Amino acid sequence: MARILITSAIPYINGIKHLGNLIGSQLPADLYARYLRGRGNEVMFLCATDEHGTPAELAAAKAGQPVAEYCARMYEVQSDIAQRFGLSFDHFGRSSSTQNHHLTQHFAGRLADAGLIREVTEKQVYSNADRRFLPDRYIEGTCPNCGYERARGDQCENCTKQLDPTDLIEPRSAISGSTDLEVRETKHLYLRQSAMSDQLDKWIDSKTDWPVLTTSIAKKWLHDGDGLQDRGITRDLDWGIPVRKGDEDWPGMEGKVFYVWFDAPIEYIACAAEWAEANGKSDADWQRWWRTDKGADDVRYVQFMGKDNVPFHTLSFPATILGSGEPWKMVDHLKSFNYLNYDGGQFSTSQGRGVFMDQALEILPADYWRWWLLSHAPESSDSEFTWENFQQSVNKDLADVLGNFVSRITKFCRSKFGEEVPEGGAYGEQEEALIADLTTRVRAYERHMEAMEVRKSAQELRAIWVAGNEYLQSAAPWATFKTDPEKAAAQVRLGLNLIRLYAVLSAPFIPFASARMLEAMGVSDTTWPEDVAASLSMLAPGHSFAVPEVLFAKITDEQREDWETRFAGTRD
Ligand SMILES: [Zn+2]
Repeated sequence: MARILITSAIPYINGIKHLGNLIGSQLPADLYARYLRGRGNEVMFLCATDEHGTPAELAAAKAGQPVAEYCARMYEVQSDIAQRFGLSFDHFGRSSSTQNHHLTQHFAGRLADAGLIREVTEKQVYSNADRRFLPDRYIEGTCPNCGYERARGDQCENCTKQLDPTDLIEPRSAISGSTDLEVRETKHLYLRQSAMSDQLDKWIDSKTDWPVLTTSIAKKWLHDGDGLQDRGITRDLDWGIPVRKGDEDWPGMEGKVFYVWFDAPIEYIACAAEWAEANGKSDADWQRWWRTDKGADDVRYVQFMGKDNVPFHTLSFPATILGSGEPWKMVDHLKSFNYLNYDGGQFSTSQGRGVFMDQALEILPADYWRWWLLSHAPESSDSEFTWENFQQSVNKDLADVLGNFVSRITKFCRSKFGEEVPEGGAYGEQEEALIADLTTRVRAYERHMEAMEVRKSAQELRAIWVAGNEYLQSAAPWATFKTDPEKAAAQVRLGLNLIRLYAVLSAPFIPFASARMLEAMGVSDTTWPEDVAASLSMLAPGHSFAVPEVLFAKITDEQREDWETRFAGTRD
């Protein structure tokens, strides 16, 4: 048994996330967590809402609520949807928690003591019309690199070049659109990432098993141009974690808060402390996951995120941890994802284009989405959601292959033997061949899951379902029954046992259907099939079951067309 710490990139608080966000980190992280638990490992799976920064302030203002109330409300909304999607977090925390306030101030104090923070008087863009300093991302203009007209002051999302607001051609306020901007002086703290560049470089070089997608992004930031830049970690905002040096005041920093990108990753740690508090545990209980001097030296730590978050996880957050000089657990493996596009374009929160998590659950159960998203995860390249592909995938994989298998074998058994596992006969050559094939496939499935190869895992699982269907087709117990009822009984017995096997193997992908399959089979034992042959004898003759309701309904052409129109854009 191993101990694995898993974190998913934390979703921003301002509104409900779309399916592209979901498959970019939380859902594959859940798949991995469920799989590892299924294999009997000790897992700590953490996620939280990312609540600080200007977008939260603006969203709260738009909703006519104080920002703290807005965040509390949206936290409940996101938490509820996560639960209904089956995201099995051990704790879903909040970056605005007292634990994160404390830890963020603690890290800043340690970094200052280590000489890794410098104070900078700098010029920042002030918007007269908005009567506030504008954070970099709230200044828009034309990208000097590629000419994209809606580049943000921190980064051009078209060519991904990192920018300073003053680089932009024809800058304007993204809040009001005003071009009445001026540059004023203000004082900020910078994390001296440049001083840690070699240390970070060596650390990344030691991660030989990381995906190229991950290391190439980090290396680019370390070596392109002038190399890794120091990063501002404070902002002139009201909402956020007040700048303090550990427990002490920070002279000259009154009224300022830490930049959301500084405190958000620290929430991964704080979330474990929140978990301890929520479950009546001690500090030692969460520290054994995070402090290598307090038991975390045997923990394997895996992070899941979209590719746009890679620099912060490979450089900024490690710089915070390394710079603290304290024995915090560092990430062992990063799994990053490309983007999921929507029907010939991009998902757009502002334009309401694409399917959002709440809407998805209004039209179909979570498993339909989980299956499609995971089996089409944007791993090696971007992938695209189309309704036609979604319909085809659900109807074929879930309804025709898995659902049909379960329905066919249980109904046939009920009609000939009643609702209990029939006795008589023995497994013959055909059954042994199936068991050998399944054993090979289950071992391959395990390897893919352990390697976090999401698509390959889905393909292998589907092949496992198909193997059962093909067996049933060729064994044809309905024909066998006429000439050799004993043999038919053995075939049916194998088929019923396959349902339990499928439920256990499929649980990480489709946990709700898996639970229904187990319930129908009247079994709660979810022991992993280390020995496939033995697991296919678990349901003994005489064991009673019930024919389940239809597991997966097919998506009709009419539904598909209706949804295509409905989600084309302009969500309220
Ligand atoms: Zn650009």
